[in-house]
Parts: sequence; structure tokens; C-alpha cells
Amino acid sequence: MITLKGIPAAPGIAMGKAMLFDSGAIAIPKRSIQPAEVSLEMLRLEEAMIKTRHQIIGIQKRLAEDLGQEHADILNAHLLVLEDQSVREEIIHGLKTQLLNVEMIFNEVIGRHLKAFSRTEDEYLRERTADIEDVRKRILRNLLGKRPETLAQLDQPAVIVARDLSPSETAQMHRQHVLAFVTDIGGRTSHTAIMAKSLEIPAVVGLVVATKRIQKGDVMIVDGTRGEVIIDPDPETVKRYEIEQRRHQEVNRQLLHLKDLPAETLDRHRVILSANIELPDEVPSVIAHGAAGIGLFRTEFLYLNRSDFPTEEEQFEAYSTVARQLKPQPVIIRTMDLGGDKFFSPIQLPSEMNPFMGWRAIRFSLARPDIFRSQLRAVLRASVHGNLKLMYPMISGIEELRRANEILHEVQQELGREGVPYADALEVGAMIEVPSAAMICDLIAPEVDFFSIGTNDLIQYALAVDRVNEKIAYLYEPTHPAVLRLVKRIIDAGHEHKIWVGMCGEMAGEPALSLLLLGLGLDEFSTSPVQLPIVKQMIRSVEHSFACSVAEQALTLKTGKEVEAFLLASLKQVAPALVE
Ligand code: PEP
Ligand code: MG
Repeated sequence: MITLKGIPAAPGIAMGKAMLFDSGAIAIPKRSIQPAEVSLEMLRLEEAMIKTRHQIIGIQKRLAEDLGQEHADILNAHLLVLEDQSVREEIIHGLKTQLLNVEMIFNEVIGRHLKAFSRTEDEYLRERTADIEDVRKRILRNLLGKRPETLAQLDQPAVIVARDLSPSETAQMHRQHVLAFVTDIGGRTSHTAIMAKSLEIPAVVGLVVATKRIQKGDVMIVDGTRGEVIIDPDPETVKRYEIEQRRHQEVNRQLLHLKDLPAETLDRHRVILSANIELPDEVPSVIAHGAAGIGLFRTEFLYLNRSDFPTEEEQFEAYSTVARQLKPQPVIIRTMDLGGDKFFSPIQLPSEMNPFMGWRAIRFSLARPDIFRSQLRAVLRASVHGNLKLMYPMISGIEELRRANEILHEVQQELGREGVPYADALEVGAMIEVPSAAMICDLIAPEVDFFSIGTNDLIQYALAVDRVNEKIAYLYEPTHPAVLRLVKRIIDAGHEHKIWVGMCGEMAGEPALSLLLLGLGLDEFSTSPVQLPIVKQMIRSVEHSFACSVAEQALTLKTGKEVEAFLLASLKQVAPALVE
């Protein structure tokens, strides 16, 4: 029995057999051939290359239409690899001398080139290794008649073990088949972790050595609440976890009884508890967990796992369906936040050195007004079907906000001219998740209807800690005094300007932290549906005055660790059942 410690990403306990998932791995069969078969093998390679060429040109065409020619040109390097005559000659030579199937020889020849390229001093050539690697996989898949593996194809229950999983891969998981997943890399607020919570799949990330220590078929226990993975557990441990699993399910069942009760403190201070969603089909879970609306609809997930952009009509369908299902409760649609760890798939944008600080969110939308407008048209058209609100991600200054609002206004006028109805009292808010916006929130407040604090990003930018990097996860502290001060500043500025302030970062879903936020005066808490009952339980167990004094005292402490210990001790006083 071995226990590995990682980062808890999504709560719950699961037991099952391991299945190693590597989205990039391709098993290559080895087969001897006769000298007379060399030309036949070469013909197979030529056919696979032609097919690959067609696929790449097809992607280029879509890229040019969706993102512009310069993005499509990135794939020219892929096409050049296919045309390299010397590679062909090496393969023919390999086939003749080694008398092995073409997959083996091709893989060996390309592998040699990759090694040479990765060692060269020439930066341009070094950067081409990713292109060659991509073409290598495409050709091999075509040679072997394989389609890219996806988790959607899994047909029996398993615990997925992977080095990394992208949010789009996670979004394809079926809860019936994926019992849990564990990864070597990743952080607590990575979108992969957020997606796991939404799907209610227990997950542990940042285990570093999971793919080295775990083998296919190993029996495992995944404790997503504590962030532990037990490989080959002894019977006593299995029994202990079975009891724990039943207890966990029982606590969750009991908490669901709170569903229809108000999110109100003992002294009748009310707050709004809403849910975060990534996809429209999460609405039943939102309702089952008793949310008073949707505080964050991460619309960019509609853009993942496809090779083109969703049409205005598809988006309208998604937004109006959610609006109707939640009516009269509000649904806050966040305009797309592509970039960071959420990229298009299977087409990816050119890699950036610092994707989280790069071309993402509102920056992308303002650079591509055509794509942005189609989203805004869809939101406005859907607004007559329920209670929609709109917010922009990653606002870093007033100009960005004004430009986004200008485009919104133009789209409203356009719809007016076309005689298309929309709700004209649409509330528009800004996410405050960049420290510059937090510092000038008093200037932003008069220009918006509400703030929603995005702590997942605010913490990473304020503390300079990449939210998906497990090596520095210990520094990612929501309780850091700097974070407390920023959050207080945003809430106070919002209230001074008579607007409400919500939070849709993961911080709002942790009971000890939400006790602090309650005391700081936060009006709306938006979190994964599964976390909602726990937060509601906390709120219903305290006096607001107690939370205010906790917040006041927490602000005097000097380190994140001190704040964390103090908040846990305070929570224990009022709701011991919520402290492990
Ligand atoms: C945040 O940054 O806190 C947030 C809610 O947005 P996302 O996690 O999608 O970046
Ligand atoms: Mg964010």
C-alpha cells in the first residue's frame, strides 16, 4: 500500500482500478516485412501523408475563416515537414535495411530528427520540434487508422491517471465511467479542477509522480477532499474508506435538506447564494443544490472541443435555455474568457510565454469584435426569455470597460433597427480579478451595475503564483493578508457607490473563507453547485455580528497561515461539523 499526497481538486471518495490516459500516446506495432513489401509499405506512408495533408489544409481553412490568415499560416511549417525529401529517403533506406513495418521506421526517423532539432542552438529550429511532433502523431494515427483518443470513448468505470488533463478533455468525461481522476500537474483553481467539481467527479491534482507510481489496473482509493491517493490499499483501509464514503454521502444528503431554506444568518442577515456553471446541462444540479440563480456562466466552454466558433444561433439556444430554466432567478452570463488554460481545441492558438497574462478574455473579445458581437447579440436576444445579466472578464482598466460597453450599445442599436426584442434594463457588471482593477475599483464602480470578484485570477496575479502550477501551490493563499485587503477594498468601494458585490472565485465556496467574506459584507456568493449546501450551512449557523468581528480580527493578522488557523478555529466554534 502506498499513499501519495497531492492537491485536493474536487471533493468525494472513489475506489476503482487505474486506467492510464495519455492523450498523446500511440502504441506502435512492430512487424517484419519481406524485401518485396518495401514499396507497398512506402505506398501506405504516401497515402497517410496525403490524408494528413488534407486534414491540415482543412484546419488551415477553418483557422483562416475564424481567426485570420496569420493564424492559419502557423500550420505552413506542418506542411513543410510533410514535403521533406530527405526524410522520405531515410525512410526508404530504413525499410530496406531493417525490414520492419513503415510505422516503426517512420517513427524512428522522425524521432532522430526531433532529437537533433531539440539540441540545436538555433531557436527557430528548436521551436519547430512541436510542429514535427504534431505531424508525427497525425501521420501515425492515419497509418494506424486511429482517431484521437478521447475520454468520451471510455466504456467501463475507471480511475483516470494522467500527467495532465486539459479542461476540454475533462469536459468530455462521463460520470458513470470516470470514477475519479488524478494528475501529476495542476493546481486547485485550474479549470480542470473546476470542471471536475462541476461534474462531481472526485479529483486530486499535482501528485507529481502519479503516472510513474501507478500502473494500469492498480486498485486505488482517491480522496478528493483531502487530496490523497492510496495505491493497492489493504483490506482495513478499504473498509475505513467505505465507511467514510457512506458518511460523505450521508452528510451531502442531509445538507440537501437546506435546499429551500434561505441563506440567512441567525440574526437574519441575508445573502445571495448562486452557482457557477460551465455548460447548460449543469442546470439540474444548480436547482437540486438550491442556488438562487447563476452567478457565473463560463460561456467559453461552448467554444471548446470543436474546431469552429459556435454560431449566434447556437449561443442563443444555450443562453435562452438556461434563462428559461432559471427564470425568475438571475443568470449572469460572462462573455467568453478564452485563453489562459482554456484554449480552443483541437485548434490551439500559438503558444504564449505567459498565457494567463496574454491574449485572453476581454482582450481577445475586443480584438475580435466580430466574434464578440455575435456573443452579445445572442445574450441580448436571450435576455427576453429570463432574467439575464452580463459581465466582462479580466477588466484591467476603464478604457476596456468603456470599449466593451460601446460595442454592447452598438449591438443593442443594431437589434433595435432589426426589430429584434431584448431586455433594455440588462445589468452589466465587471469582474474584478486583475489587481489594477481592484486598485481603481472606486473609479470603475460608477460605470457598472455590479462587481463580481474573481479570486482565482486575482490571487494568482496579486501573489504572482500561477494557478495551475503545482510546484508553487503552497504559495497560492486565499488567506494572504494582501488578498484580504484587496477583497475588502473592492466590497467597500462597491457599497460606497451603491452597487452590489459578488464573488465567483473558488474562495466563495470554502466555508471558513466564506465566514470571512460574510463579515466583510459580500452580497453574493457564487460557487460550484456541490459547495453550495456547505456554505449555506455555515451562513445559517452564525450571527452576522460574529462574522463581522471575525473579519475585523482576521485583517489584523500578518500571515496567511495565521489567518487560516484563525478562520478554522472561528468556524469550529459555530459549525464544528464543517471542520474536518
Ligand atoms: C476567477 O478568476 O475567479 C473566475 C471566477 O474566473 P475563471 O476561474 O474562469 O478564470
Ligand atoms: Mg478568472
